[in-house]
Amino acid sequence: MNRKKAIVIGAGVAGMATAARLASIGFEVIIFEKNSEPGGKLTAFEKKGFHFDAGPSLFTAPNLLTELFEFCGEKLADFFSYQKQEIAFKYFYEDGTVINAFSDSKKFAAELKNKVNESEIVVETYLENSKKLYESTGEFFLNHSLHKLRTYYNKNVLKALKGVKFLYIKNNLNQYNKKVFKNSKTVQLFNRFATYNGSSPYKAPAMLSLIPHLEHNDGTYYPKGGMISITKALHNLCVKKGVEFNFNLDVDKIISHSNAVKGVVVNGQNYYSDCVVSNCDVYFTYKNLLNNTNAAKKILKQERSSSAVIFYWGINTAFKQLDLHNILFSDDYFKEFKAIFADKNLYNDPTIYINITSKCEPNIQAPNGKENWFVMVNVPSQTSMNWDDLIPLIKKNIINKINRILETDVEKLIEVEEVLHPTLIESKTSSYLGSLYGTSSNSKLAAFLRHSNFSNNYKGLYFVGGSVHPGGGIPLCLKSAKITCEIIENKF
Ligand SMILES: Cc1cc2nc3c(=O)[nH]c(=O)nc-3n(C[C@H](O)[C@H](O)[C@H](O)COP(=O)(O)OP(=O)(O)OC[C@H]3O[C@@H](n4cnc5c(N)ncnc54)[C@H](O)[C@@H]3O)c2cc1C
Repeated sequence: MNRKKAIVIGAGVAGMATAARLASIGFEVIIFEKNSEPGGKLTAFEKKGFHFDAGPSLFTAPNLLTELFEFCGEKLADFFSYQKQEIAFKYFYEDGTVINAFSDSKKFAAELKNKVNESEIVVETYLENSKKLYESTGEFFLNHSLHKLRTYYNKNVLKALKGVKFLYIKNNLNQYNKKVFKNSKTVQLFNRFATYNGSSPYKAPAMLSLIPHLEHNDGTYYPKGGMISITKALHNLCVKKGVEFNFNLDVDKIISHSNAVKGVVVNGQNYYSDCVVSNCDVYFTYKNLLNNTNAAKKILKQERSSSAVIFYWGINTAFKQLDLHNILFSDDYFKEFKAIFADKNLYNDPTIYINITSKCEPNIQAPNGKENWFVMVNVPSQTSMNWDDLIPLIKKNIINKINRILETDVEKLIEVEEVLHPTLIESKTSSYLGSLYGTSSNSKLAAFLRHSNFSNNYKGLYFVGGSVHPGGGIPLCLKSAKITCEIIENKF
């Protein structure tokens, strides 16, 4: 029997995970990737001995990679290794308070008691509830298509729905956290989890309180070699499973006939297949590859997630007070999110995230005695602003804050610099408006409004990745690959 053929557009995390799964169940798989390398948002670069992961820096839920490799008949350890981090994040506040957010929930609760007098029982109960919500409702709805009837006939659906307390729907994340915690610093810390899919804690439902479970019950991890090792592992897995990669090739068009897709056009040449999986942003897929402006417009009804400005700095000294993941909190979180989502503007005292992989691999990720800083602030997803003009102002605000909180003069220590902003994110990865996570979760129904993993309009067209169900971030992209592959497997 002839093997079924699948074409995947884009070699992002989700595109490669889907390709490996399809190849493992017998499909002949071809990937077209417009860039010269795999990874999409998850790439890396070197400058003067400093290694920089270009996009994602936080790695959680390694079990999802284990599961993918096992599905493909391989052992993750043969491709990839990682270590658990004792401290998930280090939080710095303007008044000098520093909180070590331990991966271990009991240690984390004790730290919050010690630093801001938050009740240990309250913190532990919050994290237990987060675990319950993740394992019941989260796991069910994040692991299944929300657009297939069979999901709602599944015997576990009632259990999943029972986990959704009224409290999680009625309140936004900030309201919920304020009800639970008495200290405003704890509220701010737990509000930050809304940013994990590019949302605002003042708008996103308290359902997002399931996210801290990943960090403070399960833990955060560091991939040996940096985040780029995830891309390398997925690429090697695909190659081993026989997936064909074609780099530097833009898919110009998806061929459709009588509302069924037949393949793609690349460089004027037709490539035919039994199905097409788009790992490219769903908005661009409809607008540019299918020329279907109505479908594209419909997608825009959902708000985009936030974007970011990132400075990659080679720092010529080591900062003992910093860890792998560090947050320097804004003094007014509400105003910061109002600026990002309502005013679509910059905020002058932004929360700063500093990621330093040389903390885990000194002398490898940066030259001896030096550090590779990935310095990120959240900004609106917006490509009409002139980011090149705004960068000096953003840099000044960041430097002032770092100098204040870390009592330093950081500008003098910067040896190497590169910058990334929303317009560049859009041009490099085709993520509409440079959004990091596709659409935001800033509404109660966001999870249900996100585009499905298949097309209702075009038979044989499927979607994976951050812009479709279940959403952005590496863990959810891996889940989307699993859901999409299962739908395709059922179909064929
Ligand atoms: C700065 C930044 C920080 C982030 N931080 C984190 C984090 O800490 N943790 C986390 O889990 N997630 C993080 N994310 C989000 C995470 O990176 C994404 O959700 C995830 O990588 C998206 O993967 P994807 O498979 O959807 O596709 P993408 O990475 O968007 O890849 C899509 C691919 O499709 C290709 N493509 C597009 N159009 C075409 C075409 N016409 N023809 C051929 N190829 C095409 C693109 O070139 C690209 O390679 C971050 C993202 C960014 C940008």
